[in-house]
Amino acid sequence: MAPVDTKTYDYIVLGGGSGGSGSARRAAGWYGAKTLIIESGRSGGTCVNVGCVPKKMSWNFATINETLEVGRYYGYDIPENININYNHFKNIRDSVIKRLNGAYERNWNREGIDLVHGRAHFVEPKVIEVGHEDGSTVRYTAPHILIATGGRPSIPKIKGAEHGITSDGFFEIEELPPKMAVVGAGYIAVELAGVMAAVGVETHMYIRGDQFLRKFDPMIQKTMTERYELSGVHIHKNHAGFKEVQLVKDGKGKDRVLKLIYPSGEEVLVNELLWAVGRAPEVEDLNLDIPGVKTNHAGYIAVDEYQNTSVEGIYALGDVTGQAELTPVAIAAGRQLGSRLFGPPALKSSKLSYENIPTVVFAHPEVGSIGLTEPQARQRFGDDKIKIYHTRFTAMYYDVMPPEEKKKNPTEMKLICVGPEEKIVGLHILGLGVGEMLQGFGVAVKMGATKQDFDSCVAIHPTSAEELVTLR
Ligand code: FAD
Ligand code: NDP
Repeated sequence: MAPVDTKTYDYIVLGGGSGGSGSARRAAGWYGAKTLIIESGRSGGTCVNVGCVPKKMSWNFATINETLEVGRYYGYDIPENININYNHFKNIRDSVIKRLNGAYERNWNREGIDLVHGRAHFVEPKVIEVGHEDGSTVRYTAPHILIATGGRPSIPKIKGAEHGITSDGFFEIEELPPKMAVVGAGYIAVELAGVMAAVGVETHMYIRGDQFLRKFDPMIQKTMTERYELSGVHIHKNHAGFKEVQLVKDGKGKDRVLKLIYPSGEEVLVNELLWAVGRAPEVEDLNLDIPGVKTNHAGYIAVDEYQNTSVEGIYALGDVTGQAELTPVAIAAGRQLGSRLFGPPALKSSKLSYENIPTVVFAHPEVGSIGLTEPQARQRFGDDKIKIYHTRFTAMYYDVMPPEEKKKNPTEMKLICVGPEEKIVGLHILGLGVGEMLQGFGVAVKMGATKQDFDSCVAIHPTSAEELVTLR
């Protein structure tokens, strides 16, 4: 093959997802750096295509069914068997995503960013080669190269595991499966099992421990696991994993049948199986050994607080580094890096603070969390320095329901305070509307608010959020 020309840029960004886009736009749009994004998939990355966006739309879709349930108690004459046209919803969701793909590309174009579709890898320490479907390759070089290639879902190494789907495949489902197994206990398992259960799918969660969301405060773990059980999700606890998965019948919805085989030989039939057992960094085919970029023990790219890798002029951020794998984190880290590399001298030390990052699990109900869990706070400051404020109640919205239905819909809040000034170092909430609630309280916690600061803010009545400023 003839030698290829090498095109030169100021900044090459591998991956046009949240972090890559955020960084490229800051570098090119704000500071005029000649920037190239190389993207092997659909523009916008995980969040837009198979993450936050289709997930939140699915959460909205499922929440409507829950609202209809409550509507009956308010006196709305809603028939018991409402036909849910899932395929219609999927098509609408796909078209929203397509619009977003276009919006990303238009923004890049407007800001003078070049986009190349293809799979990137290093061929020399500062030279990237992109292969195209027709077999041709093009090479690019820049003094600054950002690796923002994200991650992908993991699948257990068991026989027949490929018959199950991951979160990527979840968004391709065209017909609801009558019975679904979800293996995993983290964000994705809880969110997607919640969606399925809320639209009437018989949902079975298989978890290794006896509670899910184990990285969250114990209050969240306990109440959310109980809430899912009360609302009809079958939770198989202390699950040791399946030995094998067999495809009994290929098809869609009820016409797809999988057999899950336990180590004991016991078998169970389901219509769909979702693996939600974590994600792995997307680094395998980058040839990181050519520049000598180091990874950590878990395979993520190792970076310092400025997103520098072990090689000068090569940076990494977002999911590929395994640091708080959230879209706004990747975007913020990308923008800070863009400012540091191409901005004025005053910004030469720009970096993202990874402390007190708020996060919401779009479960049923939502969960919000910022700062330390109670065990983390006790370990860091000592039991005698910690004061906990806690409340549990049912939101007024559910007051129309009989007691046995009301108790399925808890709201719970915990503030973790430290020292005589009662500085808030952890805030954990679950219940109706907490996803929106957390953003504002997150600002306060990030600013170093104390319990007294919370108390000095006059409550808004009647809301659930007012409980956070009136805790005793
Ligand atoms: P990505 O967005 O994954 O972008 C990486 C890009 O690099 C991809 O487009 C990929 O195609 C491309 N790429 C990979 N290798 C190459 C290569 N060799 N050459 C060229 N291109 C390459 N976060 C939230 O904050 N809120 C949520 O509600 C939320 N929900 C989620 C739901 C699900 C189901 C999942 C899976 C994730 C969710 N996340 C959520 C996490 C969020 O999506 C990620 O943290 C975020 O997308 C990470 O951004 P990134 O830029 O690091 O990587
Ligand atoms: P998580 O880290 O949240 O959870 C992974 C889960 O996999 C753990 O709960 C773990 O369970 C379980 N697990 C691991 N191995 C096995 C196994 N062999 N068998 C059974 N269970 C297993 O990862 P996710 O993949 O759910 O999500 C990835 C990241 O994406 C999240 O950490 C989050 O940062 C981001 N995300 C954010 C969302 C949001 O902001 N709303 C939504 C979705 C994803 P155990 O408890 O037993 O250790």
